[in-house]
Amino acid sequence: MAKTVKKERREFIQYSTLGVLGLVLAGGVVGSPYLYSEELHLRPPGAVEEKEFLGLCIKCGQCLQVCPYHSIKLADIAKGHGIGTPYIDASVRGCYACEAVPCVLACPSGALDHGTEKSTDIKMGVAVLEFPNRCLAMTNKTVPKGNSKKMHNFLDAQVNLTELEKDVVKKLESFEGKECTLCADMCPMPNPLSAIAMVPDAKGGKKPEIYDGCVGCGVCEEVCPVSQSAIVVKPRLSYEDYYEKGIRS
Ligand code: SF4
Ligand code: SF4
Ligand code: SF4
Repeated sequence: MAKTVKKERREFIQYSTLGVLGLVLAGGVVGSPYLYSEELHLRPPGAVEEKEFLGLCIKCGQCLQVCPYHSIKLADIAKGHGIGTPYIDASVRGCYACEAVPCVLACPSGALDHGTEKSTDIKMGVAVLEFPNRCLAMTNKTVPKGNSKKMHNFLDAQVNLTELEKDVVKKLESFEGKECTLCADMCPMPNPLSAIAMVPDAKGGKKPEIYDGCVGCGVCEEVCPVSQSAIVVKPRLSYEDYYEKGIRS
């Protein structure tokens, strides 16, 4: 885990130094639209409202260090704004919604609100079946062999999978060659059926349906076995925002 933090920080410093140097040379640091990009990151559990988060986060990497799933990364210059702040790239690794939410406990600055005490308190975003035409369940295809390697490929050779990650790999392997229900069956919430379930679709097959217990952890996006996930997480939106009020960003 410590090696991962060092690597993340090393890469962050390298990217930041090169990136900032480039922008200075271009005379564009202050007020650059690139730095203040509006793209919303998926933040770790407990993250306060984005503007406040950017002011409070001291970029110490404590949350990243305690995460047993290697879910958290530090943003580099390529991410636009909030350089050095923690984020989660759900297409690579979602947050496994640990019951005691250790990332929040580790945060010394208030950027991750300690009021988030358990997994069901998490409010990161909401899952959406954005690309139903890619969904294996809806197109009657099975989970491809070798799919579980995705979790291995994420980490470089110097870092070993944690025991918890090995358990995830084992579970993923058990789905290979079978009909796809990965997004629903891998949802880490204590009561996953409150967040997502496979339901009949109009063609007599199955499709995932999202419910208000979804916290936007991003695991469904990570484990979706197509090359670009059919199901994605919308950061900072709630179930009510997206599905009831029709808010899209
Ligand atoms: S809840 Fe657990 S898996 Fe999710 S970011 Fe925090 S430490 Fe990592
Ligand atoms: S459906 Fe489950 S796995 Fe997907 S984002 Fe929501 S809580 Fe996470
Ligand atoms: S993980 Fe869910 S959204 Fe992705 S292909 Fe399987 S059933 Fe469809």
